[in-house]
Amino acid sequence: MKNLFLTAVCSTAVLLLISGVAPKAASGSLDAAPTQSVTPSVALSATPTPVPTPTVVPTPTPAPCVREMNFISEDPPEDVLIPKYYNSLLEGDVHIYAFTDASGKVARRAYGSLETVWSDGETEVVSGFFEVDEDCKVISNTPVELESETYGEAVVLGESITVKGYKRAANGVYYFKSAGGIKHYRVYASVGGVEGIYPCDKEGNVERGALAADLEQDKLLMSYQVISLFVGDAPHVMLTAPTKTTLINMNNRLEASYVPQGMVAVSKHVHRAPFTLRNNGTYANAEALECFLEMVNAAYAEKGFDTFYLCSVYRSYSTQKELWDYRVSNNPSYGTNPLVPIGSAYPGTSEHQSGFAFDIGTLKHKVLGSYLANTAEHKWLAENSWRFGFILRYQKDKEYITGIKYEPYHFRYVGKELAEYLYSENICLEEYYDAPVRWVNVE
Ligand SMILES: [Zn+2]
Repeated sequence: MKNLFLTAVCSTAVLLLISGVAPKAASGSLDAAPTQSVTPSVALSATPTPVPTPTVVPTPTPAPCVREMNFISEDPPEDVLIPKYYNSLLEGDVHIYAFTDASGKVARRAYGSLETVWSDGETEVVSGFFEVDEDCKVISNTPVELESETYGEAVVLGESITVKGYKRAANGVYYFKSAGGIKHYRVYASVGGVEGIYPCDKEGNVERGALAADLEQDKLLMSYQVISLFVGDAPHVMLTAPTKTTLINMNNRLEASYVPQGMVAVSKHVHRAPFTLRNNGTYANAEALECFLEMVNAAYAEKGFDTFYLCSVYRSYSTQKELWDYRVSNNPSYGTNPLVPIGSAYPGTSEHQSGFAFDIGTLKHKVLGSYLANTAEHKWLAENSWRFGFILRYQKDKEYITGIKYEPYHFRYVGKELAEYLYSENICLEEYYDAPVRWVNVE
């Protein structure tokens, strides 16, 4: 855990006052900030005096100022909803969430626990998302209220959309149809001060923090009206007995009833290498697990890493279907656009159903995301996992070949020989089999 210390004493209180969250008044301030209420008779001295001069009785009695703020950055627990407009990134060791606020400025948040030590010795600990500055230091000792964040409050301007291809629905809401008759709604609005055409629902509601629609992409979607491009309808064969080298993707699928043979409970082997298992009910292919343990032990021996966090390995068809259904419930057009690589695999197309895929986070960063590419552990994995038979399966520059979004945490076991070959040639599994993903039959 990284500790971020704010050692400044009363200048912190000034910041607190500016951000409007200081229930406790500052005392003995050194700064004559105009917005600050300072007890007039407290002499300016080189050393801040926490206790006011006895002859002065301030009204109301000032509470002590902040002596120290000690912030421990953590990933949010699973039940904490991360706002959609938060862009996840890693700076040093701190997981930052950034977005543009209503005034057009970049606002920054970090999740964690903040211990505030007041000068009278009282200590408070609060968890949540906190506002941080450019140096990743916590600015305010009150967590942000997500409901009142000012990012991108959408103002529907309701002017008519003159772009070709959009049809009028009602109340200034427009739409167009893409593959499978899916309607995409658009409205002219201003979000975070940026005017443009925004995706919206039927009623014209624009999500907070929404990004303007990409008109070029809209045009392409409009042209896909004839052929259904739903990923579930992509041409495919059913695999019967996948091995460690088998290509599994939207075109090469596993039956709903397929459960691999010869898997082992990972929890029985946790003691053999320094890593943490998220879920004790995790199963993995036995050979792949042996190599995973070998890899973790090597990372410890070579770099001292004992921080790997194994999030998931085998996932059943029905679990994958739940994940997929959840995605689609949030976004009905999910998986209908070949220009948007998929983040959750369609049921039957996930490598996790084979027991050969390992999703790896770190103890500091348990939330899986592209930001993990910047951790020391993941940089090591990207360069060394091939030695143990693993490949970084979904790379950034291969998104349109795999059809899957960049995932720096997803490692697929293919065996040492093939892993070394793929790594040295810098090719992905689809390229190896000369079979980039196909959304439609081209014959
Ligand atoms: Zn994965």
